[in-house]
Amino acid sequence: MEEQHAWSPRTIDLSQPNAARVYDYYLGGACNFAVDRAFADRVLAILPEARLPARLNRAFLRRVVAFCVRNGIRQFLDIGSGIPTAGNVHDVAHRADPSCRVVYVDNDPVAVAHGELILADDDLVATLAADFRDPETVLTAPVTRKLLDFAEPVAVLMTGLLHYVPDADGPHGVVARYREAMAADSYLVLSHITSARLPPRVREIGDLYRASPTPLYDRGRRAISGFFTGFELERPGLVYAPEWRPDSPEDVGEHPESCALYVGVGRRT
Ligand code: SAM
Repeated sequence: MEEQHAWSPRTIDLSQPNAARVYDYYLGGACNFAVDRAFADRVLAILPEARLPARLNRAFLRRVVAFCVRNGIRQFLDIGSGIPTAGNVHDVAHRADPSCRVVYVDNDPVAVAHGELILADDDLVATLAADFRDPETVLTAPVTRKLLDFAEPVAVLMTGLLHYVPDADGPHGVVARYREAMAADSYLVLSHITSARLPPRVREIGDLYRASPTPLYDRGRRAISGFFTGFELERPGLVYAPEWRPDSPEDVGEHPESCALYVGVGRRT
């Protein structure tokens, strides 16, 4: 029998890999199981640099949260927040201003359980078990209403999320629903795997993910730009993760040209 931990809900299926835990493993975290590590190791055997987008994505997230606070944002809705790891949104935001409020949302029970565990003592931060595709629940949950005021600007983060949502689920329409709830000068922050830059061998990785319970759907530039309808992109626009306002060599990584992750920050007009 696979290991159980204080943070691991009894109901999770330990026979199948899961995107949140595989990502945690790429980042060197400890909230993953043998089935996740075996899956990730198959990916790494095809693409040894597969941890890189995860690291560059986290570096982008840190920069963008600091950017948001510099630009007046004091409240964050982080959807598809993942398993807490180094440089969480509330860590970065609170370093800049301890009064910032953060609601983390994920539909993965391990991400939610671990979030609840480490955030139990923080009144300004909460974790919500909900699905991105159900904006009414996310936006009106008691914890969201308690911590976030949508009459004021808010940063809505969807980093590394939308490529888990198939076109059949209408992700553009769902993002628009969040947009309608956001006051002027709010920010939408995205990172998204793109087909525009993936080497051919990555198709095998696509096959692996497609056969998993959490398939990946990479998208082209036009489809990713479409998520920013109703927003004005902040400089430098929709770019690869290492190109978005890097401020250290770690932000760029050793092979920035191989990062197939588009990122962008849109201001609600
Ligand atoms: N946002 C974090 C980051 O950028 O480092 C974590 C990204 S992780 C790759 C993707 C997360 O999205 C996982 O924790 C997964 O459980 C979550 N997720 C996927 N589909 C979701 C959905 N429909 N609703 C809520 N969360 C979802």
